[in-house]
Amino acid sequence: MSSDPEAQRGPIKVDLEPADRALVDGVLRRQPRALAKTITLIESTRPDHRRRAAGVLDALLPHTGNSIRLGISGSPGAGKSTFIEALGLEVVGRGHRVAVLAVDPSSTITGGSILGDKTRMERLSVHPDAYIRPSPSRGSLGGVADKTREAMLVCEAAGYDVILVETVGVGQSETTVAGMVDAFVLVQLPNSGDDLQAIKKGIVEVADIIAVNKADIDPEAAQLARRQIASALTMVRRHSEAWKPVVLSLSAATREGVDKFWDEVERMRKALADSGELDEKRRRQAVDWMWSLIDQGLRARFRANADVRRELEPTSRAVAEGRSTAAAAAYRLLDFIEASAD
Ligand code: GDP
Repeated sequence: MSSDPEAQRGPIKVDLEPADRALVDGVLRRQPRALAKTITLIESTRPDHRRRAAGVLDALLPHTGNSIRLGISGSPGAGKSTFIEALGLEVVGRGHRVAVLAVDPSSTITGGSILGDKTRMERLSVHPDAYIRPSPSRGSLGGVADKTREAMLVCEAAGYDVILVETVGVGQSETTVAGMVDAFVLVQLPNSGDDLQAIKKGIVEVADIIAVNKADIDPEAAQLARRQIASALTMVRRHSEAWKPVVLSLSAATREGVDKFWDEVERMRKALADSGELDEKRRRQAVDWMWSLIDQGLRARFRANADVRRELEPTSRAVAEGRSTAAAAAYRLLDFIEASAD
């Protein structure tokens, strides 16, 4: 590593194979084929592909960051995909280019995908300024989320300035997605059951904007839900000084209120940028992401180690049966990778 402080501040220099250089150039020239091929490379689990993908990402990095990154969550049926289509059409109408990605915990179990069915966003999916990518379907939630995070950077380099990351409101996927976006949106149904669920699960704590959807069905119920959620939010402790979460009622189906929703997103983005919180947040997210990749890499190496593979099962049994302490067992297994690193 260079000891020259100036050199350490610039982007990391990347040497690329000609094929990968062509991918980078194609993405920067906004060629759809290069974009799709690059994301496929990123989603590959082959170790040689991983290394190539890392090089391509490093080369694209200086061209990323110039976007609004929005996470969108909600229970199944809340209207996420109807809302994303309405919002996507609203923002392309305002001259933006929008990319829709997904972190789908169910796809890791079923192999299916929330965005697999493109007919769910019929008009947006054929719009020239929109790009819709279904969730990668392999690996742990962490693994899938990291691919989505990388795909997001590739989309930014290809000139998409609005990134929408969809996730289903189950398990830890909200927290994972909140860790990769500037703002997190919760789509809610106007009935108290749904509100209570979100409050109980702590999802409202990560939500920056809450959209009470389907206001066209019963506007009064939607207003009531909006007030209830807003009052519940006053009891939630927030980390941001620059932004207090807002609750809006809207209809994804009739698009009523979707324009106001986007105005709020822009207002939030400005408040975070002006206060310096946006930069701070993105820096913290990037370092957290590096650590998550390191943790995953170490775990994979540990499990691939021949001594560990031989001893893991009998050692786990010894711990379960009280013949060894967890600590002694863990250190014994960890010693194997230390020995192999020498
Ligand atoms: P998701 O599972 O959260 O992605 O929900 P969908 O977008 O697939 O919507 C579930 C159902 O609710 C579909 O039948 C939609 O047509 C309907 N829906 C979504 N948004 C609205 C809305 O604003 N008003 C009404 N009346 N129906 C809606």
